[in-house]
Amino acid sequence: MHEMAIAQGILDIALAQAVEHQGEKIHLVHVQIGAMTGIEPQCLLVAFEALAAGTLAAQATLEIEAVPLTSCCRDCQHMFSPAAISFTCPACGSAAVEIITGRELRVVHLEVD
Ligand SMILES: [Zn+2]
Repeated sequence: MHEMAIAQGILDIALAQAVEHQGEKIHLVHVQIGAMTGIEPQCLLVAFEALAAGTLAAQATLEIEAVPLTSCCRDCQHMFSPAAISFTCPACGSAAVEIITGRELRVVHLEVD
């Protein structure tokens, strides 16, 4: 259950930014979570809600944008979205596969009053 630590990290970023902008209340926190992170959005929501209680983010909505896994083959430049985490190109069988998206874990946007 590493969602608790992740939620704490998101909350810390949101609170720091709110203070920086002299905000009194955080309404919305938008995060991008890549498929590679293995984070369960539902667990993250619950953890965030628990940690945010009593802070500027107590009423905040945590909006989670799931970023799918996209890979690109270095040998044939084939782009694909593996259903499971796979490191073999489905077009040419090469193992020289680069992960393009799916590792995201960031706060993209905040709404603060
Ligand atoms: Zn390939």
